Amino acid sequence: MLENIQNTVDQVASGVVREQANKTDEGNFPRAGIDALGKAGVLGLLSSKDVGGQGGGMRDVTMAVERIARECASTAMVVTMHFSGVAVLEQFAPREVRQAVAKGEHLSTLALSEAGSRSHFWAPLSTAEKKNDVVVLNAKKSFSTAASNATAYVWSSKPVAAEGLSTLWLVPAKTPGVRVPSPFNGLGLRGNDSAPIVAENAQIPEAARLGKDGQGMSIMLEIVLPFFNVMSTAVSVGLMETATARTVAHVTQTSFEHANSKIADLPTIRAYVARMRLKTDMARALLLDTLDAVEKGRPDAVLRVLESKAGAAEAASDVLDLAMRVCGGAAFRKDVGVERLFRDARASTVMSPTTDLLYEFIGKAACGMELFA
Ligand SMILES: Cc1cc2nc3c(=O)[nH]c(=O)nc-3n(C[C@H](O)[C@H](O)[C@H](O)COP(=O)(O)OP(=O)(O)OC[C@H]3O[C@@H](n4cnc5c(N)ncnc54)[C@H](O)[C@@H]3O)c2cc1C
Repeated sequence: MLENIQNTVDQVASGVVREQANKTDEGNFPRAGIDALGKAGVLGLLSSKDVGGQGGGMRDVTMAVERIARECASTAMVVTMHFSGVAVLEQFAPREVRQAVAKGEHLSTLALSEAGSRSHFWAPLSTAEKKNDVVVLNAKKSFSTAASNATAYVWSSKPVAAEGLSTLWLVPAKTPGVRVPSPFNGLGLRGNDSAPIVAENAQIPEAARLGKDGQGMSIMLEIVLPFFNVMSTAVSVGLMETATARTVAHVTQTSFEHANSKIADLPTIRAYVARMRLKTDMARALLLDTLDAVEKGRPDAVLRVLESKAGAAEAASDVLDLAMRVCGGAAFRKDVGVERLFRDARASTVMSPTTDLLYEFIGKAACGMELFA
């Protein structure tokens, strides 16, 4: 793992990302944090050294995301989507785009989910038609993190001519005909700008295609899904770590003055804290084992990639439910610092592949069935 860059991530996370976290939760994109991460070389962590990047791998970006998530899950999810896109760009984008990513001058994201096929991201309904020298896009994307702040989208459509379910494109955010019709105003991850995007007869060059026509599904499943799932797991783990620490701080420092005791003196409270600690540590252990499985090409790597996101998302919802209960009425106030995490932790369950889709895939894998038969 690249130790120096993790120290840099730690500095930016404990500095500007922490300072901006509450402002970000008011619905503001974490521009200062993202710029600081770009300037420090962190957004180029996955870019290879031959284009000026750090040459890191899945473990490096996952650890970076986990550290950022301990301060601000909105920022961590913007970074997650950036690296999920960069994993594709590194393989298929032109050199100048990869160089801009490495320099921290290109913020990537995924524009996969659509109003029509919803969480079934592998089956876009949006179209790409070849007309003379250009490709014409029409689409209704339902959510794209950093929609109004990304440089370009890793974008899915139906294939132009080939067999298959989808084709991927690199679509610059400023492409005429591409627009964000309404801003994101969500329950959690309020700063991550996960707005819809519409394309109306937007023209891009055929060279903007990422991979072959019709290759989108295999790129999504083989490249995007492992990176996205593992980093989402890291966001959940980071949220749980901070929730547990803040809950412990609250119950050990808050007194029932009339009884000369602390909240932590109640055995039921300590049992709840124990469950929080246990679930956090179990999710972290699963995350680390997933990285190990992927790096070593273990036969259970695909299963672990599917399990880790589902397990950590559910654990994070449970841990944050417990944090709200254990910290009592005080938890409803912002100063205790768990209610933002409670809202943020819900998102991973419904971000695709959603927990219920993952249960379906894990069940099929466990029963020896084809995942997409
Ligand atoms: C904060 C946030 C950020 C996001 N960022 C991005 C992004 O950057 N890029 C992007 O492309 N998308 C993004 N998304 C979209 C996300 O990935 C999902 O596509 C979206 O949340 C699904 O919502 P929906 O209402 O369409 O779900 P629906 O598809 O309507 O699902 C409704 C329910 O049905 C369940 N369900 C669906 N299919 C099955 C099945 N086969 N078996 C069992 N249960 C099933 C789901 O689990 C869910 O519980 C984001 C979403 C959120 C909330």
